[in-house]
Amino acid sequence: MPSEHEIRLPLEHPLGRASGDELNSLLSAELGRAGLPILLRRSLDTRRRRRPSWLLKVALFARGEQPTPRWQPTNRQAEGPSVVIVGAGPAGSFAALSLLEAGFSPTIIDRGQPVRPRRRSLKALSVDGDLDPESNYCFGEGGAGTFSDGKLYTRSKDRQGVRRLLEMLVAYGAPSRILYDSRPHIGSNQLPRVLTALRTDLEARGVRYEWGARVTEVLQGSDERVSGVGLLDGRFVEGSAVILATGHSARDIYSICQRQGIKMTAKGFALGLRAEHPQAMVDEAQYGARCLDLDLPPAFYQLTAQTTMHGVYSFCMCPGGYIVPASTEPDRLVVNGMSLSRRDSPFANSGVVITVSEDDLAAWAYEQSRPGPSQDPLIGMTFQAHVEGEAYRAGGGQFRAPAQRIDDFVAGRKSQDLPATSYRRGIVPHGFDRIFPATILDSLRQALRRFDERLTGYLSHEGILVAPESRSSAPVRIQRHRESLESTSHPGLYPCGEGAGFAGGIMSAALDGQKVAAAVVRNLS
Ligand SMILES: Cc1cc2nc3c(=O)[nH]c(=O)nc-3n(C[C@H](O)[C@H](O)[C@H](O)COP(=O)(O)OP(=O)(O)OC[C@H]3O[C@@H](n4cnc5c(N)ncnc54)[C@H](O)[C@@H]3O)c2cc1C
Repeated sequence: MPSEHEIRLPLEHPLGRASGDELNSLLSAELGRAGLPILLRRSLDTRRRRRPSWLLKVALFARGEQPTPRWQPTNRQAEGPSVVIVGAGPAGSFAALSLLEAGFSPTIIDRGQPVRPRRRSLKALSVDGDLDPESNYCFGEGGAGTFSDGKLYTRSKDRQGVRRLLEMLVAYGAPSRILYDSRPHIGSNQLPRVLTALRTDLEARGVRYEWGARVTEVLQGSDERVSGVGLLDGRFVEGSAVILATGHSARDIYSICQRQGIKMTAKGFALGLRAEHPQAMVDEAQYGARCLDLDLPPAFYQLTAQTTMHGVYSFCMCPGGYIVPASTEPDRLVVNGMSLSRRDSPFANSGVVITVSEDDLAAWAYEQSRPGPSQDPLIGMTFQAHVEGEAYRAGGGQFRAPAQRIDDFVAGRKSQDLPATSYRRGIVPHGFDRIFPATILDSLRQALRRFDERLTGYLSHEGILVAPESRSSAPVRIQRHRESLESTSHPGLYPCGEGAGFAGGIMSAALDGQKVAAAVVRNLS
């Protein structure tokens, strides 16, 4: 067993920023005489009243001891039972890798395009406001994860599984610092390369990919077991099992599930706004003015507040990032955040969301004379779509977004003008009152006042709120058995990942993909 050591180093120490070979030789110089040092964790301690410093956790292997080798792909070819995977996001992709390594033959079907043509779709959307409903920030190779912020942290308790997953990403070209950085982050510019390397390896080993192929039907054999899927172009793809990993934006899939009697329930989901501030303001609030001349990374924050009706929290904070249009439908607006690996935009953004509860849904359904969540599992999705439609209209079309200065929003007045923003489609002043129910706006207002007590300047006139942040989690859970992980109504169908309501974020979706793949292997062996 290696011994573990914590080391505190001054900010200027080269070990704070080194990676790869340089890191190994610096570590060896620092600790190497006693054995083989391996960096487990590196974080920056920026607590106030202290000079910022690096905190390193190092495992020291005695001479003769060896660390467990890092994960590497095998040469195993696709040859066993065929499994259909719908969705090439983190859940579907890592399910495919696990199935391949276990001797199965996965086929991945995705409505979107591989990374390269998908990039062109994103450009057309960001620059000209032309949305391709099949190829966008949510649909295509790597799913919503590809052009995401690429933050790779998760609340999963499965630390070994998380470590193994990070090693897999490193094996496909991710920087090795994600193995020890306390807040691992890849960035939108590096993730596509990693995903392409993963796909290239899987394809070379016999995994089939179908791009631009939208699933419109789940097929059942005479024994009622799910036996494949039907595509929009009339083709059928058959397999011994079907993994449904279509993400939370595939509204048509939820409707298909409802039509085919696949058991689902409404679930709470996150809804709110995206806040944007000058990064310099966040840096000063977090580091203090005395640190501004030091070479520190753009500062991060995480805020929560309990209000009378809702818990409100900041979500998916992107230091040095951009707000992007994450819509999948032509007349509905959704915003989200991303950043490049160098995080060098002058803006910091984060979601500010509440969890929409069954009570919120029931109240909205009553107002709209619709059946409530106990009768209609898709009521949350309908509500989400309603908010997105109102936001699109409020922005005046072409994916311009309604926005407000944060101080104006809290004071309940409409902004007369708006500051510069990273959102390329443009923002227009709007009071949000037609977009969200008053109870949700009240909770957000209360919470933002509390946020300002924790992060000085949060309510600054330079900060804005952009609507809506509506696709952070699934509004539906597709029911699955605890043990077999098959649909409770349709054996042979495996609801998986974020869209099925079993994950939130890149890492947890990928972990769920691996878990479902293991269940398929168990059930079919
Ligand atoms: C802009 C942005 C930034 C984000 N930043 C982060 C971050 O920094 N860190 C983080 O952890 N998470 C982030 N996320 C969330 C993260 O991307 C998702 O949680 C994750 O991708 C979910 O994985 P998944 O595999 O379950 O589904 P998805 O990634 O949504 O993949 C689903 C796939 O299914 C396909 N599909 C859907 N319907 C059909 C159909 N009918 N037929 C065929 N294929 C279909 C889609 O094309 C898609 O490729 C971000 C998301 C966005 C949009």
